[in-house]
Amino acid sequence: MTKLKGEHMSLFDKKKSQGVHPPGNKMASGKAIEPAPLPTQVVLPLSQHIGAPAKALVKKNDEVLVGQVIAEAGGFVSVPIHSTVSGKVKKIIQVISAVTSRVGDAVVIESDGKDEWVECTGADPNTLSKEDILAKVKDAGLVGMGGATFPTHVKLQPPKDKPIDSIIVNGCECEPYITSDQRLMLEHGEEILRGLSIMMKVIGCQRGYIAIEDNKPDAIQAMQALIPKLELPGNITVESLKTQYPLGAEKTLLKRILGREVPIGGLPMDVGVVVQNVSTLKAIHDAIYLGRPLVQRVVTVSGIVKEPKNLMARFGTSASDLIEFCGGALPDADEMIFGGPMMGIAQTSFDTPIQKGTNSVLVKKNTKKKETNCIRCGTCINACPMDLLPLMYPAYVKNKDYAVLNEYYILNCVECGSCTYDCPANIPLVQYIKIGKAEVAKLGVDK
Ligand code: SF4
Ligand code: SF4
Repeated sequence: MTKLKGEHMSLFDKKKSQGVHPPGNKMASGKAIEPAPLPTQVVLPLSQHIGAPAKALVKKNDEVLVGQVIAEAGGFVSVPIHSTVSGKVKKIIQVISAVTSRVGDAVVIESDGKDEWVECTGADPNTLSKEDILAKVKDAGLVGMGGATFPTHVKLQPPKDKPIDSIIVNGCECEPYITSDQRLMLEHGEEILRGLSIMMKVIGCQRGYIAIEDNKPDAIQAMQALIPKLELPGNITVESLKTQYPLGAEKTLLKRILGREVPIGGLPMDVGVVVQNVSTLKAIHDAIYLGRPLVQRVVTVSGIVKEPKNLMARFGTSASDLIEFCGGALPDADEMIFGGPMMGIAQTSFDTPIQKGTNSVLVKKNTKKKETNCIRCGTCINACPMDLLPLMYPAYVKNKDYAVLNEYYILNCVECGSCTYDCPANIPLVQYIKIGKAEVAKLGVDK
């Protein structure tokens, strides 16, 4: 098939707006991070990351401490899992992974309420070699906490033929409702910057950009004020960017800041850039300076709950416990999403445990409307930040014509949901796209 990308500009005579403007609804933005109560029990899936699941090292009735490794990495693209409470292993069960949607093992641990930790020994990163830092990052179980959950030690080791000149810190948090990164920048900016500095040292690059949307002026100001105080090596600046969904998607962010386009099916490293989320940088800081494994994160609990909050919560805590701590869900709540309303994943139960990639627990009322036929209005095309033709995908997915999907650049979709947001026919385009992308990847067709 001949070139399709951009063809739609003649097919649909409309000026592209690229992206949409969903209401921000940042209800918890003024709420300082507070610790969630210690859970009485945690459920820790062994596949909380992209890559091979971790392999269990514990069995029923084993006693564990907070931070103790309970499952070892299952390969290079994998990370260990640590206990997030002290107590006793109750059982190992099967759960559906919130990352891969496949069934896998999860370790259930009953807390003894003592919150006893393993010994954590921090270090000055200046005294550590690059290899030491990478080993500590892997041992701490770090993954991309913006939702991608790609193992951080792998991201810190780009192939030698892909030199990196810039790191972009993703502090955009463009999804409605979510404020966990904003609060981290306001309350833990120094750790984020020190984490960035460690990352720049390991990757060997001198340029760091901290990207923040201009609807968070407090975070922009806080980070700008910190940079000169810390006197970190390299050139680090804050980039204040006009708010527009989905600016936080890696590829759109990179294009906006550096004007570079990631090749179709490629990664930011293909154009000399690594993008890292602010929560992950804080976790890198904690792993190196404090020697702390990843056992908790900031989760925004918002939507139709009595009191939206930003909570520091242990992995494995059930979402319903966090919702209760926020005063409970309001009466018409019937749906819970991990992540935001645009890219988040609806969970089958309010009891689903939060994981490393869970930045938000969003409680809402299901407002899905009946899907009707496409009216070829072009709204989805105008909304797509990747210059794709979303309206073409459902039919080819239904017909299992996966090779054609590839020719329509489906692998370049960042699954931002902009196309679905305003579709007058209520077509769940992203659902079709996710199926299509998985099938195209299985085919192994040229990207
Ligand atoms: S898929 Fe929806 S938004 Fe796109 S052209 Fe069809 S009706 Fe319009
Ligand atoms: S096709 Fe993909 S990238 Fe384009 S708007 Fe839809 S979800 Fe976003």
